[in-house]
Amino acid sequence: MSLVVMKFGGTSVEDQTAISRTAAIVAGRVAQGKQPVVVVSALARVTDQLLRAASAAAQGDRTGALAISSRLRSRHRDTACALIKDPKNSAALVNLIDQKFDSLDEILRGLAAILELTPRISDLIVSYGERISSRMVAAAFCEHGMDAAHVDAREIILTDSQYQKATPLEAVIEKRAAEKLRPLLNQGKVPVMGGFIASNEAGITTTLGRGGSDLSGALVGGALTADAIEIWTDVDGIMTCDPRVCPDALRVRVISFEEASELAYFGAKVLHPATILPAVKKNIPVLVLNSRNPSNEGTRIISLAPHCKSPFKSIAVKKKLSIIDVVASRMLMTHGYLSEIFAIFDKHKCPVDMVSTSEVSVSLTVDSNDKLPLIAADLSKHADVKYEGKKALVCMVGEDIRGQNGIAAQVFAAIRHINVRMISQGASEINMSFMIEEEDADEAVRSLHAAFFKEPDPEIFDVEAHKMAAEPTR
Ligand code: ASP
Ligand code: MG
Repeated sequence: MSLVVMKFGGTSVEDQTAISRTAAIVAGRVAQGKQPVVVVSALARVTDQLLRAASAAAQGDRTGALAISSRLRSRHRDTACALIKDPKNSAALVNLIDQKFDSLDEILRGLAAILELTPRISDLIVSYGERISSRMVAAAFCEHGMDAAHVDAREIILTDSQYQKATPLEAVIEKRAAEKLRPLLNQGKVPVMGGFIASNEAGITTTLGRGGSDLSGALVGGALTADAIEIWTDVDGIMTCDPRVCPDALRVRVISFEEASELAYFGAKVLHPATILPAVKKNIPVLVLNSRNPSNEGTRIISLAPHCKSPFKSIAVKKKLSIIDVVASRMLMTHGYLSEIFAIFDKHKCPVDMVSTSEVSVSLTVDSNDKLPLIAADLSKHADVKYEGKKALVCMVGEDIRGQNGIAAQVFAAIRHINVRMISQGASEINMSFMIEEEDADEAVRSLHAAFFKEPDPEIFDVEAHKMAAEPTR
């Protein structure tokens, strides 16, 4: 039987309608003879609200924190009642939700007394989102006639103790999955667990970082050597560019792991880049699918993409960046200079996106952040420093640019009317990125899309949907 890990994001479980739709999608897989393991996020926006409650409590705003929690309690209770028709089952679920919120409230009150929010407590507080959503989804699946079994993800996904962005311990996860998930599957049950949440080996709750449910899905898929991992979201898959910016955007039908992770890193919001890794290692295909449009085939991410007639698969844009120019004539021929510069970024825990160097200068790009003045002050002990915000990085990804001549010339010809600040062709050889003013970004994407997706390869892009949309409807 083919085993499929199905991960549903916050919008796929945001309310009764979404959860019912999700249940129908999973029941559909069961009817196809597949064995699903389901991983769910918290209901949409819940993680943000839990974090707000935590910070309110830590600032002594006990009433504000409890008010957020109380609104969340009502939302979950109402959703549970709407989902579960049988009064006994719905009372049991509501009771469980109440218990969880009672203990959350207790933590918030404690926090308001001690006024200190540690990363460990923050993880404990946000974990309630997925702990509760997974219970609700499991109950809804039973209501839809499936034999669902709730599994506490913290017993499967083991990590180190780096709270808020813990590193998974894959060997332990594999062992736990074999012990706790496999038997359920053998009994024909549908395991349902929360994404994002995990625990360290002492059993203390950790999380995988924001958006980490995709990674949970891939970890479970990797541990069970699933036949496929499905990431259910609210878009039709990976697009050639943001359809809100360019209405000609096409769905990418198939893309390589390497291309997809490159895109994810550069801001294509569809997928968490680290998601890819546990799946890549085991050569498991990942499908990005739309729970609001389940019949759409989505985007298939595989280890080796087939040859594509167009050089690029997609254009991603990352906005809100700053560029930092470091100029020092003494850099000429000295060694260790770059490491001094990077040590400063490291000290401020500020990741660098793109670097370009000349004899006497280094330009770096980073996410705009409030540490920049401090970083610049430290850098200016070594060199002249200038920094400027409101920049955007445009990143064009495609395996087929490898070794092709003249691609860069075509790219820059397409945007000759736009001022380019910095260029880099990544070491991966599959992306070409350049930095421009944020205000030029949309125009650049439209020009590049027009230049490179004029005759899209139908094997790789969903040309049909686009043709249909272009035909006038009567
Ligand atoms: N609920 C978590 C978040 O909002 C994890 C996820 O949705 O992937 O970041
Ligand atoms: Mg997500």
